[in-house]
Amino acid sequence: MEMLEVIPVCYCGNPAILNTSWSNDNSGRRFFGCKKFGSRFRKPCRFYT
Ligand SMILES: [Zn+2]
Repeated sequence: MEMLEVIPVCYCGNPAILNTSWSNDNSGRRFFGCKKFGSRFRKPCRFYT
């Protein structure tokens, strides 16, 4: 895993984590998202970069 100089901070104040998208459109694309990103959370955070 490569080191990145800047870790984005989410709208909710948490440091974003690196996720990998596996949707059909952009399979394997890596992006920073909130650790609360995802539909399994009651209030998922929409932060995405
Ligand atoms: Zn967030």
